[in-house]
Amino acid sequence: MGMHDLDAENEDLVRKVIDYALERLGSDSPLSSPPSAEELQALVGNTITPTGLGGTEALRTFADHLAPACMPTDHPRYLAFVAGAPTMAASAFDLVVGSSSLCGSTWLDGAGMVFAENQALRWIADLADMPDSAGGCFVTGGTMGNLSALVTARHDADRRRMDAGSGHPQRWAVVAAESAHSSIDSAAGVMGVDVLLAAVDAGERLRGDAVAAAIAARPAGTEVFAVVATAGTTNLGIVDDIDGIADACAESGVWLHVDGAYGGAAMAAPSVRHRFDGIHRVDSLVVDPHKWLFSPFDCAALVYANPALARVAHTQHAGYLEPIIDDSVWNPCDYANVLTRRARGMPFWFSLAVYGTDAYTEAIEHTLEVARATRDMVVAADHLELLVEPELSVVAFRRRGWGQADYQTWCDRLLAAGTALLTPTTFDGGAAMRVCIVNPRTTVGDLQEVLATLGGAGDHAA
Ligand SMILES: *Cc1c(COP(=O)(O)O)cnc(C)c1O
Repeated sequence: MGMHDLDAENEDLVRKVIDYALERLGSDSPLSSPPSAEELQALVGNTITPTGLGGTEALRTFADHLAPACMPTDHPRYLAFVAGAPTMAASAFDLVVGSSSLCGSTWLDGAGMVFAENQALRWIADLADMPDSAGGCFVTGGTMGNLSALVTARHDADRRRMDAGSGHPQRWAVVAAESAHSSIDSAAGVMGVDVLLAAVDAGERLRGDAVAAAIAARPAGTEVFAVVATAGTTNLGIVDDIDGIADACAESGVWLHVDGAYGGAAMAAPSVRHRFDGIHRVDSLVVDPHKWLFSPFDCAALVYANPALARVAHTQHAGYLEPIIDDSVWNPCDYANVLTRRARGMPFWFSLAVYGTDAYTEAIEHTLEVARATRDMVVAADHLELLVEPELSVVAFRRRGWGQADYQTWCDRLLAAGTALLTPTTFDGGAAMRVCIVNPRTTVGDLQEVLATLGGAGDHAA
């Protein structure tokens, strides 16, 4: 069997792979704890051999041993972290993107896909009421989106200082709240810049006055090049006061980046759209379709109000690349820290095109309703304590009388029973629980079942 011809054997293999994918889409794989590497070694053995295992055996190894050793994020009771629940169309089209040998770096290579991806990006820009000029590209995740946006912001701030004859500052800094995602710290580390913390208010929300205070309190020699506001904090789902923060940024001429990796999707939900007031004023925005917009991993939308500023910051120059450097066409690789690029926005585009945006609004509203019902169940239970009023689809709570070990025991038990995946978090220096609902197949009944296992007053998890 050759590797590159669609001969009878390869055709049979392709069909088996597609059949496997179809079967997987129609069933929930169980939730279970991961095995150890030693256990997998015993089950799977060595799969990389000079002559190959053959298609049947390699696929069997995956289906029987490797896939069951992975957590299905689209399980309705995957309630930890931020899950992902791709639509049927998006998952299916991922196979097409993977089997089309199309590169999404440049217009020259991928005009048709770049055109389609840009329509999907435009939908997100429209949700935010960003200007007609807005544009960007799809990157691997919020982490890469945040880094690429901040690189653009610093590049622009530095260029403006140079134009003004002020020279480079001793240090560059980004202002962010403690509730900002860990990827902001990570980006700052990569960039060699400082993070200046701005205080959140009693409702865990970053506001304009705290941002203005943090900018004013910067150390001598330090210049602030960007403020990061979070539209849906990962731990609690809080949307920062974007309009007030935009005022503070405008006042001091600082770039406003909004990290909506998790929460930005909720701009499509009329019941919570007001929480995003002021988002049309952003300089850059990140929204992860692989979180709450039902796209397979990995897919994050990065959108700039003025993409030309990103192009000057990110375009790579080399002799062999000069022929594609062309600002009369849209080259996605010019807008992030990337060159070769999977057209990872295509499954998302296909799904939007198939089902229409109303279906997205409805699905997101449904998850918000399940989150509200969960909040009500927590409030109604004497042994539970709601930590903050949920703004999006994260519900954070405590079980009265429980500490870290109790939560962990409870989570372990739920996973061992295959009931649900939850993980403890921290809030205000103490252990707590959170559930994040981004799967439209998650029901109020699922949450009822999970919360019922928290026992009554006085019980311990053991
Ligand atoms: C998940 C998340 C990120 C990181 O996104 P990845 O896609 O995991 O890289 C960044 N910011 C927020 C607010 C998030 O919730």
